[in-house]
Amino acid sequence: MSGFGFAVTHTDGMARRGQVTTPRGTVQTPAFMACGTAGTIKAMTPEDVRATGTEIILGNTYHLMLRPTAERIARLGGLHKFMNWPGPILTDSGGFQVMSLAKLRKISEDGVTFQSHLDGSSHVLTPARSMEVQRLLGADILMAFDECTPFPADHDVAAESMRLSMRWAGRSRTAFEEAGELDRGAALFGIVQGGVYPDLRAESAEAVKEIGFEGYAVGGLAVGEGQDAMFAVLDDTTPLLPEDKPRYLMGVGKPDDIVGAVMRGIDMFDCVLPTRSGRTGQAFTRRGPLNMRNARHTDDPRPIDEACRCPACRSYSRAYIAHLLRAAEILGAMLLTRHNLTYYQDLMADLRGAIEAGSLGTFAADFARRQAEGDIEPISAGVGR
Ligand SMILES: [Zn+2]
Repeated sequence: MSGFGFAVTHTDGMARRGQVTTPRGTVQTPAFMACGTAGTIKAMTPEDVRATGTEIILGNTYHLMLRPTAERIARLGGLHKFMNWPGPILTDSGGFQVMSLAKLRKISEDGVTFQSHLDGSSHVLTPARSMEVQRLLGADILMAFDECTPFPADHDVAAESMRLSMRWAGRSRTAFEEAGELDRGAALFGIVQGGVYPDLRAESAEAVKEIGFEGYAVGGLAVGEGQDAMFAVLDDTTPLLPEDKPRYLMGVGKPDDIVGAVMRGIDMFDCVLPTRSGRTGQAFTRRGPLNMRNARHTDDPRPIDEACRCPACRSYSRAYIAHLLRAAEILGAMLLTRHNLTYYQDLMADLRGAIEAGSLGTFAADFARRQAEGDIEPISAGVGR
């Protein structure tokens, strides 16, 4: 069986253009992974997700282990079959959601004991159990189990949390290898923690490199530290990571976060923003975000973004989508989610093209200028993409 791989084909400054290969298909990088939290990209069929240009999706260990349970999904043939997504799937470790959603959490050296936010039932997540759940789901890329460092955290708290995560990363690696995961072509990514402290990020980067992973993630960002602090952490951290392995910035972010992170050498992203915003009424466009619930859209016959190829922009007006949202019609969330995910995937395709052409700096300046201009006039054909 062909296993997991990564190759960089072009560079532009720190930015990389490449491919992640998995037994279930190839992912062009820089890549955006759509969030399939509970076994579905909300408001979209897998066929529609694929049509946006999405090549890899994310599944959530915490949600799926509680409902319908990883064991049930395994009995039914694994997550790919269960949700009808034949392409690559990355699963998170469960650590982040345990900290943000579960009740009565208790952290020890071994792991986290917690109560389900659904029914109060008691569960334990350890590095070994997280690897087992991700294996039962059939993930192509697994994430090491780690503790989500609270923000803000002082240096001592961030250091203690990071060092616990590094011990858990080592146990995750051992469990992953003992389960024979490499034989089925699966990959395990380690996660660099350490908050906003350069010395802790450096210590963590050395620790995960020492353990050795198929890819390296930067975690604990986009938690309220702000874009400048996030970019500063990336400036310090990405040069410390192996050049021949993919780098994944977890949970990020807004379009301008992604552009800046790609320029700092990040290859993979995930964020709930395009899909969640599709349900709350925010549209991302080449002229910046729009609140589609705003009254100014209710008589506007233009599409959300005239340069967009998605079905919502080809066939429907802002006025109609604004009406659907105001009427709480399901189709409003469906169309807006489809648009937002298409916008994100087209942004990634533009970034890949700019890296190939060696024009990422020009692209980024043009991107920032158009976002800052805002939605003043109709976007004429040929501008943007
Ligand atoms: Zn669109």
